[in-house]
Order: sequence, then C-alpha cells, then structure tokens
Amino acid sequence: MTDSLEHSFKTLKQTIPLLLKHKIPAIPTNYALWYTYAENQNNALQEEVQRALDEGRPFSDIYTQELYRKYVADKEELNAWQLRQNVEAMVTELSQTVLDTQNNAEGFKASMETNLRHLDKVEKEGWSMNEVMKLVRNMVKEAQLIRSSTVDFATALKAAEEEISKLKAELQKSQKDAFYDALTGLYNRRYLDSEIAAINTEKPTSLIIVDVDYFKKVNDSYGHQMGDRVLKAIAKRLQEKCKPNATPFRFGGEEFAILMHNATLAEAIHQAENIRLALEKISVVDRRTNRRITGVTASFGVAELKPGMRHSDLLEVADRQLYQAKRLGRNRVMPMSNS
Ligand code: GH3
Ligand code: MG
Ligand code: MG
Repeated sequence: MTDSLEHSFKTLKQTIPLLLKHKIPAIPTNYALWYTYAENQNNALQEEVQRALDEGRPFSDIYTQELYRKYVADKEELNAWQLRQNVEAMVTELSQTVLDTQNNAEGFKASMETNLRHLDKVEKEGWSMNEVMKLVRNMVKEAQLIRSSTVDFATALKAAEEEISKLKAELQKSQKDAFYDALTGLYNRRYLDSEIAAINTEKPTSLIIVDVDYFKKVNDSYGHQMGDRVLKAIAKRLQEKCKPNATPFRFGGEEFAILMHNATLAEAIHQAENIRLALEKISVVDRRTNRRITGVTASFGVAELKPGMRHSDLLEVADRQLYQAKRLGRNRVMPMSNS
C-alpha cells in the first residue's frame, strides 16, 4: 500500500465509527466532513465539533450540512473525484467491517455458549448464582449491541451504496450537462465557444448559424410542447445531414450552429443548403389532435474564418449574414461575401 492510501484507510477506520456513533447517515457530504474531522488537520473544525460534542449537541442533518459547508465544501467540492474515491473506499471498508462484525458476533455467541456450558464449573469455583447471571446478562447485552451495530452497519452500507450510484449518476450527468443540450442532445453553446476558441487556422474553418423561421408561431398555434418536438426533429435532421467534418450545436432557443473544420465557404454553403432542404421536409404530428406541423423553414448565415479575423468574429459575421437572410424573406442561405 502506498503511504497516502494507508493514511486514507487509517482515517477511514476512524471515520466509520464516528458516523455510527453519532448516528450520522453515511452520505458523501457527511462522510467528507467526518473524514476531514478524523484527519485532525482542520483546527477550526476540531474545535467546533469538540464544542458540539461537549454540549451534547446532536449532529442533525442541517447542522452537519452547515459544518460541511463551513469547513469542507470549498476545498472538497472542487475535488469531487477525490470524494468519490473516498466514498468507494468507504464502501469497501464498510463491507469488510460488516463481515468482521458478523464474525465477531458469531465468535461471541460461541464463547458465550462455552461459558454457559461451564456454568457448573464456575459454580464449583465458588461464584454465586447472582454473579453468574450478571455475567450472562452482560454477555447477552453485549451480543445484542453487536447485533444492532451489525444492523447499523448493514443500513449504512446500503445507504452508502445507494448514495454512490446516485453520486455516479450525478457526476455523469453534471459532466454531460456541461457539454450537451438537454432537450436536443446536441452539443451546447458552451461547447461551441470552446471549439471556436480552439480553431486551427492552418485549415479553412466555416460556421453556419441556423435560426428557425417564425418559430414563435409554432408555439403559439400548437403549444410549447409541440414546439419542443419540432426542435428535436430539427436537431435530428442536423445530425443526419451533417458531413463528418461538420458538427451541429444548439446555439440557443431556436437557433443552431454548425462548425465545419477543413471546409471552405463554398463547402459550407453547400452543407447549409442541404440542411435547409431537409428541414423543409420535417413533419411532426400532434397525437392528441392529429394536427400535423409541416413547412418548417429556417434561415442560414454562413461565414469562413479569414486571415485577419479573430476567432470570435466568426460568430459575428455569420450572425450578420443570418440577419440578412431574415431580412430578404427567410428560408434561405446567406453567405458572407467571398472577397
Ligand atoms: P424569426 O423568423 O424572426 O426568427 O421569428 P421567430 O418567431 O422564430 O423569432 P423570435 O425570436 O421572435 O421567437 C423565437 C421563439 O422561440 C420564442 C421562444 O418562445 C421560442 N423558443 C425558444 N426556445 C424554445 C424552446 O426550448 N422550446 C420551445 N418550444 N420554444 C422555444
Ligand atoms: Mg432566434
Ligand atoms: Mg427564429
């Protein structure tokens, strides 16, 4: 074991009993708090916890959360990965502890039975029946304690396992949310911005901006939900029609963008025209009313990154062309002038 892993496990071994002792649910934030406490490196936290313990103040959910926020969150939340590692390590440790506890309980039961069998011997050695019964009662009590702590462990283990799958799902989701648009599944604006910032200027790069025509009317006539379905249908067409070097993004509400690597303005115009025709074919049926939405059109602004243009200008130029396409009557592709 490496030093840091060994240290982690040592701290873990101290953390779990703390959680159980104070009846604190083994969820990641609590775990992180008590792990930090067990690590004994945060003086302010040590002091406050000690004060609470001295006062007999219970570690309620809210109080625990408050402590977490005050002493752990800033440092730890940055490090969600570490937290997850720790939680996973905790589960490993917990399941081992459960086994140990069960073994302890079994061993204890066995030794208790042996003791009972030797009851007469004890008697011969001059123990009063009272003393023996006191001993037995103590043993039974201890056994019960062990049993109930086993239940605690099992509950904590189950909670921790559930928490981990939740945490994993949340982590995945938050990673996904960072780049994807939830409605359409396309990449989002943030992703586009980082792609634009990273453009390699050795190859031609073009950008298409797509804005659905009179989309407000779709919402007004068919409802927002149907509007959403149209947006999804548009996203699907974009994905189908984009060439391998073209990536579609949801730019904003009813606006999309297509970034094309290694593509000249002429190629981008061609790509935009293809998409324009594909969108015209969209047909979405409202199953409740049997009404069909057709005739979806969009306007397109197209720009190529030229020498002397800043990366961020690409968006601006394409947007200006889009505005022209709208002004000239919509449902058309408007490229920047290629001079
Ligand atoms: P134009 O041809 O000039 O672009 O007209 P338009 O109606 O498309 O443009 P406008 O900007 O006036 O309206 C855009 C509409 O898109 C308004 C807004 O409610 C709708 N919208 C934006 N995001 C969503 C969404 O996620 N779902 C739905 N259903 N509608 C959205
Ligand atoms: Mg718009
Ligand atoms: Mg629009």
